[in-house]
Amino acid sequence: MKNISGIRADFPLLSRSVYGKPLVYLDNGATTQKPQCVIDAVDEVYKSYNANIHRGVHALSDKASEEYENAREKVRSFINAEKREEIVFTSGTTGSINAVAFSFGERFINKGDEVIVSHLEHHANIVPWQMMCERKNAKLRVIPINDIGEVLLDEYLKLLSSKTKLIAVTQVSNAIGTILPVQEIIDAAHSRDIPVLIDGAQGIQHGITDVRKMDCDFYVFSGHKIYGPAGIGILYGREKWLAELPPYQGGGDMVANVTFEKTTYNELPFRFEAGTMNFPGAIGLGTALDYVSTIGMEDIEIREQELLSYANDRLTGISGLRIFGNSVNKISIISFLVKDIHMYDTGMVLDKLGIAVRTGTHCAQPVMDRFGIPGTVRASFCFYNTKEEIDILGTGIEKVISMFA
Ligand code: PLP
Repeated sequence: MKNISGIRADFPLLSRSVYGKPLVYLDNGATTQKPQCVIDAVDEVYKSYNANIHRGVHALSDKASEEYENAREKVRSFINAEKREEIVFTSGTTGSINAVAFSFGERFINKGDEVIVSHLEHHANIVPWQMMCERKNAKLRVIPINDIGEVLLDEYLKLLSSKTKLIAVTQVSNAIGTILPVQEIIDAAHSRDIPVLIDGAQGIQHGITDVRKMDCDFYVFSGHKIYGPAGIGILYGREKWLAELPPYQGGGDMVANVTFEKTTYNELPFRFEAGTMNFPGAIGLGTALDYVSTIGMEDIEIREQELLSYANDRLTGISGLRIFGNSVNKISIISFLVKDIHMYDTGMVLDKLGIAVRTGTHCAQPVMDRFGIPGTVRASFCFYNTKEEIDILGTGIEKVISMFA
């Protein structure tokens, strides 16, 4: 891996200051900063070949379409999908889950059927299923978690039945960092022929992703959480499923032939890409995947685990600090509260020190309810963070305590 100062130099925003203090950006779970190459790639689209994709015969449109399809190939290769037809561009994880919830629901869910999620889900992997269950008179079942924030696999197995039509679980909890045992979850579901959707929003950026090895049926993620642009995301679906699902949006480019009497749909994956897509975002995402591949996903994982262990040691040394989510398998997220100090007070003081952390429920209210708390302060680290930044966080929290306690 490149040395850390070289890596940080790739990200222009990391060198800025906030309130006269050097920025310490520890909100990577919410969104990541962008390397210059991604900024340049998007800039380049608008500067030199902006034109609508798949629609023109002119040179600019050809070039934009080619780059967009190159980006699709980069995504395919990054997650090791078998075919490019299995890679659908969407607006993000939320867009992808809503697409599956609608299309899968229309095609496969009937009254009395069940969909299983876990207690660790982001609202994006709860609400679309609730909406679908309401539409279809189906039922949402929830895998419970234990006191350290791990899913209870025994309870999961008990939930599986002939009524179960789909499992939709997150790979990693955005609220407390738990890495879920997705392999066990998928294997148990497949032994009963039940398909599985994995929400990879917090998984994709922290290690190698291989959808074929994982054997999931759907895998979704957002570009902005893996150093790419906002407003672009991926829905990977095994071809056998995508081929069966009806489109969830109608419009330009998703059709083969349109008459007022009958419309036929385009082939995969275009059938699921209605209207003008975010092609600059897709191209930027392709560049982001090239960038992290050059850094090396294995090395990223190792570095982030080192940062997690350093942060654990530093923060558990602070008297009165409680960490929520202590699973052995965790990504580099520490979700905490300090004494009885309100999370927003902690977040605001840290902000004035130049430290960006997230405060609140992290769009995972059921997780907070499980722990009987209104929310947490969440520090989420990634490979461009440093031990010095973790020390600054530690000192910042000590300052919060001295101010409020
Ligand atoms: N799922 C998880 C686990 C997340 O962490 C997030 C965002 O934080 C989402 C889904 C939603 O992602 P987006 O807002 O990019 O659609």
